[in-house]
Amino acid sequence: MATTRRLTFRRTTRRAYKNLTPVKQKTSVNGLPLFGARRTDGSSRWAYVGYSLGTQWGILGGMESMSALPGNGENEGMEHDVETNGFDGRNDGRNDGRNDDGSAGFGGLVAGADIPQGTVVLAATPIGNTSDASARLIALMEHADIVAAEDTRRLYDLANRLGVHVNGRVVAYHDHNERDKADGLLDNVETGATVLVVSDAGMPTINDPGLAIVRRAIERGLPVTCAPGPSAVLDALALSGLPTDRFCYEGFLPRKHSERMQHLRMLRSERRTIVFYETLHRIADSMDDLLESFGPDRRMALCRELTKDYEQIRRGTIGEIHNSVRNDPPRGEMVLVIEGASDEEVNENTPNVLSIEELAELAAAKAKDEGLRIKEAITRVVAEHPLPNGSLPNRKQVYAAVLAAKGE
Ligand code: SAM
Repeated sequence: MATTRRLTFRRTTRRAYKNLTPVKQKTSVNGLPLFGARRTDGSSRWAYVGYSLGTQWGILGGMESMSALPGNGENEGMEHDVETNGFDGRNDGRNDGRNDDGSAGFGGLVAGADIPQGTVVLAATPIGNTSDASARLIALMEHADIVAAEDTRRLYDLANRLGVHVNGRVVAYHDHNERDKADGLLDNVETGATVLVVSDAGMPTINDPGLAIVRRAIERGLPVTCAPGPSAVLDALALSGLPTDRFCYEGFLPRKHSERMQHLRMLRSERRTIVFYETLHRIADSMDDLLESFGPDRRMALCRELTKDYEQIRRGTIGEIHNSVRNDPPRGEMVLVIEGASDEEVNENTPNVLSIEELAELAAAKAKDEGLRIKEAITRVVAEHPLPNGSLPNRKQVYAAVLAAKGE
């Protein structure tokens, strides 16, 4: 049955939902700053308790929680009669996002967010803009029994920015210990704990820790689920303007020039849009190698500082972006999105795999025709005939075959 409570709020200029007048109470519950809002369309006067993340609002719960809040004397004297519909943002541990009476919660926001017991939950964290934190992430950070975080300081920093109190046990869970720690964490899952896995930014397992525990959970038959959210791959792909229907994610390119070139050669015939992560220290070298491997004409996008104040997308051909990186080196975090190969390029680049003897014959002919030393001719022939995995045929073997053909 609806109950009526008398609450005092301070009006703020912050805009909330359409038809809702936001009113702010300067206090917090469980670390979350609380805001109230009421509908102004005259039809009813529901009030909600919400949380504010930058300019975004979410509904946290109903009036029972609000009733616990004291007036702070700083208000402008606005008083609202507030009705509740009996939803109190709590449930009895069923974790189904519903109220105790079985009715649906407030649209799956924090109060109704699932906290599945006995489960590993991978959750994406913001990649720059704190307001991208989902209501599920916030609820999980607060209620998970164990939080396995890539960097515990960054976890607490995010919690502070969100105004969340991390109640569970926090465990450092990074590239160097994730295999060793996975089973211990899963033992807790087996006894009913919720284990939240978060990385420094974005989606765990995407160039971040998380895969080891997912694999072990699958092997042990334990539940694993995901609270998805920001990830730089999809953000960049969507903003690139390049085809999104088929794409491949290649993570970071190898650090060493020779390995990077081999990798890029292997990708020359890739028809799907290609996404790479890149760092400011290597972007210039990587652009040199991209230009050499893919030529200047393919379209690409360099997407930097996504979701942040200085977000920038440079779109153009590989040749144009190569120049722009030289003239105006990009800073911050970045993602490269490259157009896939055209039919023409695929035909040109499909590796023509020749035997060592055939390469030796070609090299001998080239040396003669172009007046080159045999070793130089072999280097050129080998570079023109990469193997399907992008590596180059062995020059020593080709040289030996040249000598053998001469009878030496
Ligand atoms: N797990 C993360 C994800 O889902 O995107 C990726 C982590 S990986 C260690 C870090 C790399 O992601 C950065 O070097 C950069 O290439 C990319 N990245 C992360 N945040 C970014 C942002 N805000 N803008 C552009 N690139 C970003």
